[in-house]
Amino acid sequence: MKKSAWGKTADGAAISLFTLTSGRIEVSITDFGAHLVAVRTPDRRGRVADIALGFASAEGYLKTPNAYLGSLVGRYANRIARGHFAIDGRDYQIPINNGPNALHGGPVGFDRYLWKAEEAPNGVELTHVSPDGDMGFPGTMTARVRYTLEGDTLRLDYAATTDKPTIVNLTNHVYFNLRGDDDGDILGHVVQLNADRFTPVNGEQIPTGEIASVAGTPLDFRTPHAIGERIDEDYDQLRLCRGYDHNFVVNGPAGSLRQAARVSEPESGRTMTVETTEPGFQLYTGNFLNGTLTGRHGKPYGPRTGFCIETQQFPDAPHHANFPSTVLRPGETLRSTTTFRFGTE
Ligand code: BGC
Repeated sequence: MKKSAWGKTADGAAISLFTLTSGRIEVSITDFGAHLVAVRTPDRRGRVADIALGFASAEGYLKTPNAYLGSLVGRYANRIARGHFAIDGRDYQIPINNGPNALHGGPVGFDRYLWKAEEAPNGVELTHVSPDGDMGFPGTMTARVRYTLEGDTLRLDYAATTDKPTIVNLTNHVYFNLRGDDDGDILGHVVQLNADRFTPVNGEQIPTGEIASVAGTPLDFRTPHAIGERIDEDYDQLRLCRGYDHNFVVNGPAGSLRQAARVSEPESGRTMTVETTEPGFQLYTGNFLNGTLTGRHGKPYGPRTGFCIETQQFPDAPHHANFPSTVLRPGETLRSTTTFRFGTE
């Protein structure tokens, strides 16, 4: 693990960049927002490129709130309808920041704070203490994420505790482009998902509560399909989200590490396999990237130039009794693990 100075926050605190190396794979993480900044891997000819969208310097992350490039998202990944929820009969309100709804924990999420970093075996462990009432959420929450690079696998271990009943849903919002992050769109990437079901959304991208079969829809990736093959089909779920932006239910028991997705890119030959203990993941195809974010190469990230597999609890779970509960109580520790394995074919 290599640690280097990477600038300062507005109030003068030192920001660091941590670089982990294993064979020809190199990943960089910053303690500002616990962002995954870079993932460098070789293609099938051995040419190394950065396959995670990111900014060139800490300044990019500091001055661009809600860009979510590699962000650690908390306290609640994805949407909560109207920003409102109740626990044990008490009401709580998060500031809304996505139409009438709250997205990714509200306007000032975990990605806006400097986390405390500690060295771990070929990794770094980052801790953030979110005070009681932060963004309207009850309880002092201690959140932890440990990034480890083992062989070809980047592993993220999450943990969280609270001192009052609260809700929690942590993810990393990293956008990938297996061609390289300045090399066009992701429509040719071939995706296979270990998911028979998904949670359909309404016109505000809030789950309807239904857990639907993917069979017979363009969301059926149980056999491999290119992202671009069906993305513009006249299907209401795709129209509502301008492409893929859906929570898929991972087959197999939540709590055990099982495959969520496998992605390959035919020209570079790069592959990525995602495993998780989480019940779901958001396949998001960068539909709302609109060229306003300038990446590390000085070029704008346009629509569909990155895709995300955001492993998670289900969006808006507090409003759906049939979704796995996201309530965390004092004395409990939330734990989850997600791994990204990189290769070529
Ligand atoms: C959401 C998208 C949203 C994006 C913001 C994703 O997790 O599902 O709807 O636009 O985050 O970066």
